[in-house]
Amino acid sequence: MDVIKHILSIGDKVIHFKNLGKSIGFVPTMGALHNGHISLIKRAKFENDIVIASIFVNPIQFNNKEDLQKYPRTLSEDVCLLQESGCDLVFTPTENEMYPSPDNRTFNFDSLDTLLEGKFRPGHFNGVAIIVSKLFEILKPDKAYFGEKDFQQLLIIKTMVKKMNLSVEIIPCTTIREADGLAMSSRNLLLASEDRVNAGMIYQTLIKAKELSKTQTIAEVKGFTIKKINSIPNFSVEYFEIINSLNLREITNWEDTEDKIGCIAAYAGKIRLIDNLKF
Ligand code: AMP
Repeated sequence: MDVIKHILSIGDKVIHFKNLGKSIGFVPTMGALHNGHISLIKRAKFENDIVIASIFVNPIQFNNKEDLQKYPRTLSEDVCLLQESGCDLVFTPTENEMYPSPDNRTFNFDSLDTLLEGKFRPGHFNGVAIIVSKLFEILKPDKAYFGEKDFQQLLIIKTMVKKMNLSVEIIPCTTIREADGLAMSSRNLLLASEDRVNAGMIYQTLIKAKELSKTQTIAEVKGFTIKKINSIPNFSVEYFEIINSLNLREITNWEDTEDKIGCIAAYAGKIRLIDNLKF
């Protein structure tokens, strides 16, 4: 497995593989890899001739400086994990390589980027779209793999691909969880030990909320979920919304749509966790 820092060198590899008629599967990441990321790599390996992963902590998608500084970086462990999981190439550009000059493009996502996460992380999805579109241009993948854990991101990337008429196919991948249900996340490394013990409650509460949806109104289920998670010491819910998963609009009745999903963001101490469950 080659680890490549420069756009020109990885570009040469991509051309080489394309000339040989090889299909390319791509997994963009910010590193601090865990089994969630690795599940994407394995799926990409199964469905393509060549798998490329990128590791780049994209500064322009962070709306909070401290969050960017604290973001875990574990490059040498990441490279070992990628090698073991069958990845063929890793792209690890520097900030200067990706942004030799500021990229001030603004994408229009017809408000998909201002709901849910977008309300609390202004500019986040524009930063994600800029980096992902640059990586697609450099790596020219046939398929790119994104986790359903970042549900809104997945929808935004699908929308970007449609709007820009890109030829890459976006493949959604199931959320991988720890034994207690906590969605795997690079940020879990930053949790205080007692918060980590309690963090499984987020998913367990979502499961309970889904059960309650058979007998209770949306307002009641939301109330239950928020109260339950806020009652955990150190935890506070930023939002919990039950939405139409096709347009991210809140629904008010269970019958409003078949495509329902509950999305949550909660702080465990200073660490912000997100999760979701289809209802
Ligand atoms: P990140 O490194 O957090 O930017 O994530 C890179 C990719 O891995 C994104 O498409 C995420 O949605 C996906 N991902 C992160 N955590 C998980 C997980 N627990 N299960 C599945 N995919 C995940």
